[in-house]
Amino acid sequence: LQQVVSASAGNTWSGAPIVNGVAGTADLPVLNPATGEVVGHTTDTSPEMIDNAFAVAAEHQRAWNRLGGNARANILDKVADLYEQHMNELVAIICREAGRTLNDGISEVREAVDFCRYYANGARKHFSEATVLPGPTGESNELSLCGRGVFVCISPWNFPLAIFTGQVVAALAAGNAVLAKPAEQTPCIAHRAVQLMHEAGIPQQVLHLVTGTGAAIGKPLLDNPRVAGVAFTGSTETAKHINMQLAAKDGPIVPLIAETGGQNVMIVDSTALPEQVVDDVINSAFLSAGQRCSALRILCVQDVIADNLIAMLKGACEELVLGDPSQLETDIGPVIDEKALGLLENHRERMSMEAKTLFAFDESKRPQNGTFFGPQVVEISDFNLLKREVFGPFLHVVRFKAEELEDVIRRINATGYGLTFGLHSRIEGRANAIFKRIDAGNCYVNRDMVGAVVGVNPFGGMGLSGTGPKAGGPHYLFRFANEKTKT
Ligand code: ADP
Repeated sequence: LQQVVSASAGNTWSGAPIVNGVAGTADLPVLNPATGEVVGHTTDTSPEMIDNAFAVAAEHQRAWNRLGGNARANILDKVADLYEQHMNELVAIICREAGRTLNDGISEVREAVDFCRYYANGARKHFSEATVLPGPTGESNELSLCGRGVFVCISPWNFPLAIFTGQVVAALAAGNAVLAKPAEQTPCIAHRAVQLMHEAGIPQQVLHLVTGTGAAIGKPLLDNPRVAGVAFTGSTETAKHINMQLAAKDGPIVPLIAETGGQNVMIVDSTALPEQVVDDVINSAFLSAGQRCSALRILCVQDVIADNLIAMLKGACEELVLGDPSQLETDIGPVIDEKALGLLENHRERMSMEAKTLFAFDESKRPQNGTFFGPQVVEISDFNLLKREVFGPFLHVVRFKAEELEDVIRRINATGYGLTFGLHSRIEGRANAIFKRIDAGNCYVNRDMVGAVVGVNPFGGMGLSGTGPKAGGPHYLFRFANEKTKT
């Protein structure tokens, strides 16, 4: 794989929109965050092209819906097969365009494949036949599910294939037509994914790719009366903006399925196993350059073990390799772009005044080109220092005393976010007791906070972190559907 990815250096890929099977022109460069090199071209899809996509999608959605859950599932399974066959190519694009490491790329393609197969099975199970509900003797009651119409799927750059695919495939499985909008930073992997979906048999009239920035195409994409629902993953701010726009537009009242940011905390009490904690903290905070919604941001350590744990953590941080994501030895690749880098540098600047620096990456080891940000660990006294999500390899440590545990839990809930939470403790019963009181979608006990597994450990939060239902969970598809009864 490393050879395939290395050989792709200098390749360019298309990041053009695809409407009704036809690729548009692409005039804007897409950059490799690790090198600054151009890896492809994209464009802000014109309002006319978006309107056309809606019209065609709306016209063909009914036939797609009538095809039924089994037939749609067979096509989605084919998408999974094609992704598997094109694994190396997909990883190469993810690595070059999004700066993700090879390991991240592989996991991501696997996750995308899992989404396809899981939602295909969901379509077979829930969208093929009506459910018979009990009724008075002689009466038949049936409940059936169908697509809502044209779904808009808006995805981020941090899992540019897995999240993109998960949203699109769920909407399609439930019988919707789709306008898919990838992040402006990662249109090429989305373009390739849509080509493979069409090749698998999803009609070109049913699935369209519209590229561009939110500022450029958000309005024509969300104001259209044909929008029957939106699946969104990105920032809390954008989700709220989209919600307002949907409420104000003409046409039906539509659902917004939003998966947004987090201010994720791990509590480590004095009974935890330090070696395991250090491994898990490193993975949770720094894997994928900290650019996961689930990443650990605030580590709360009981005071009696804090000095020891921090010393061990510093040692582990020294070992982290920042560099070219296409090399297997790299732990941390670049952050996505100049803007992300600027935000992290500003945060580091602020923390240098308001917090105690525990570990600062040796800047002489930072690659010359590309948007690289080395891992940082600081100690803060108060959660309130962090008002906004910090998206990168930046960990904040807070010490607490045994008698302050209740207060820590209260403060975690008071952030208003509720995505992931971690606990390291060997006190029997503590995990359950805390689990019941923490408002977070994904709680991890004595392990790292990485890895949502489709169908097993579905992912999604609450409060400022999103609406649910969880992606890759048993309830997700229903939110994309209308329900009808026949009595
Ligand atoms: P991030 O901080 O992860 O870049 P954003 O919320 O800005 O989060 O972006 C997530 C996705 O939402 C991207 O595809 C982006 O282009 C899109 N987006 C941003 N603003 C808007 C908007 N006003 N309307 C529609 N989509 C938007």
